Amino acid sequence: MRYSQALIPTRKENPVDAELPSHRLLLRAGYIEQLTAGIYTLMPLAWRCARKIEAIVREELDAAGAQELLLPMVQPAEIWQLSGRWDHYGKELLRFKDRKNQDFCLSPTHEEGITDLAKRHLRSYRNMPINLYQIQVKFRDEIRPRGGLMRGREFIMKDGYSFDADYVSAEASYQRMYRAYERIFTRCGLAFRAVEADSGNIGGSHSHEFQVLAQTGEDRILSCAACGYAANEEKAEVKRNQVAQAGSGFVPSSETPQMAEVHTPNARTIDEISAFLALPPEQFIKTLIYLADGKPVAVLLQGNRSLNEVKLQRLLSCEALVLASDTAVHEATQAETGYAGPCGLQIPIYADLDILTMHDCATGANRSHYHVVHVEPGRDFQITKVDDLVLAQEGDPCPRCSQPLQAFRGIEVGHVFLLGTKYSEPMGAHYLDDKGESHPCVMGCYGIGITRVLAAAVEQYHDENGINFPTSIAPYHVILAPLQLKDEAVIETTERLYAELQAAGVEVLLDDRDIRPGVKFKDDDLIGVPYRITVGEKNLAQGKVEFKHRTEKTAQLLDVTEIVAHVRSTITRDLAATMPQ
Ligand code: ATP
Ligand code: MG
Repeated sequence: MRYSQALIPTRKENPVDAELPSHRLLLRAGYIEQLTAGIYTLMPLAWRCARKIEAIVREELDAAGAQELLLPMVQPAEIWQLSGRWDHYGKELLRFKDRKNQDFCLSPTHEEGITDLAKRHLRSYRNMPINLYQIQVKFRDEIRPRGGLMRGREFIMKDGYSFDADYVSAEASYQRMYRAYERIFTRCGLAFRAVEADSGNIGGSHSHEFQVLAQTGEDRILSCAACGYAANEEKAEVKRNQVAQAGSGFVPSSETPQMAEVHTPNARTIDEISAFLALPPEQFIKTLIYLADGKPVAVLLQGNRSLNEVKLQRLLSCEALVLASDTAVHEATQAETGYAGPCGLQIPIYADLDILTMHDCATGANRSHYHVVHVEPGRDFQITKVDDLVLAQEGDPCPRCSQPLQAFRGIEVGHVFLLGTKYSEPMGAHYLDDKGESHPCVMGCYGIGITRVLAAAVEQYHDENGINFPTSIAPYHVILAPLQLKDEAVIETTERLYAELQAAGVEVLLDDRDIRPGVKFKDDDLIGVPYRITVGEKNLAQGKVEFKHRTEKTAQLLDVTEIVAHVRSTITRDLAATMPQ
């Protein structure tokens, strides 16, 4: 491609409101353009990258025995009503009516679409296992689209689905996809972790997320360097104190003095009250009021810990769990928010395991601007249930080997999920076994955010000058930059190299723009093509050209007769380096 004929609208200024490096750089480097919130055009460079990522995905999935198809993205409400999600999906599902007033939606994911297809074609155990995938634009009316391609409303996803006759076989399909995902993200050149993820309320199933490690990631991951355990924060377990775990209830201390109320004007948060009473946060019982399916419940945690809402929701088996509003808190505690405590509270109380081993604590008095001290659990209040409810944090003991967990931030680029019969059962995707008995198919689903992978790659691969893509997913392999466009020898050599590189299978962007070399190099660095060949009058007189990697400061001088072979072998070496064994 000749740069002079390409659509690469780079910008000098940083776009306002683009906080993430990937968002900022993809806009500045002319990769993407916003049409409206969360909806972007993939300009030619981004589209080339997306196609590279897609090609890797296709190669690996095809090699793992999956088949590509394409399902309609406009879907009739009926199949979503059958699965039950028409009522439950919420506002991310963009719904509309056709001219006959029939309900439709833009598919945010395709469990319904694929199960509907499976129902008609997978009638016998002989039709399985089968694994189908597609690469397609999805629409989710995200409440907060963010970070350009990172969280769009319209985005490209690879979604795949496996169908098996039983769980043993489904587990094998799941493992095949897990391994294919490891290969895909390795080939994309990304530093990632596969982490255990929460699989919602579907019993017996399991799920892993593939997280690209990045400081800017939305997700928090906990992992153990000693045994390899890794989980999303939502799912991460913590090895709990033996005493607490063994304990069936409280063992109140007889040494704790009588509980007493103290006036604590305007001290609401744990930090404020801890400073005010000069007590460490660990001595406090944090009391949170939640509404579980509309009914108030109290949750007790040690003052220095945070609640894992997923664990609480599991314990309560409720559909909706929200932090209570000030009004609801007042109704439940007779006090303003910030002064709730378990003593005398008339709603169900759920406590984290830590509470069992706490003595002589402080907590809210259920009276505005008052707290109580010398609170003894089991003596001054009772609870409904105790369980592990804390959000794991760095330094907590690993649930498997007790070594301290480390915390990372990540970007979820892929998700594999053993679904079981969640969709096949209600939608009637049943097959007949060898005895003629009918069973629901056992399903798995597997997603990769193609456009999010692109953004995540920029998060990992950029510097102050711009993007520096790994060779496997870069839009071009090399930029060919002639310096003197009026010099015949320079032009003649450049044109010859351009033709020879292309003939050798190297993807070249010929920067034939008649602009100052400084401006040219700035743009070339910004767009992140891995290598650059510079053809200049002086070096050419010695039969040389410059060759340099995007991140190297100084260039190598190579013989013009050898450059094509050198570039070719460099690209081959790069691609081999990211190819898993
Ligand atoms: P998230 O928690 O980030 O919203 P999700 O759990 O909703 O993701 P899945 O339904 O598992 O995502 O979708 C599969 C993949 O699609 C995700 O792993 C992610 O890479 C990608 N993806 C999901 N939502 C978006 C989005 N709004 N923009 C870009 N990519 C997305
Ligand atoms: Mg989502």
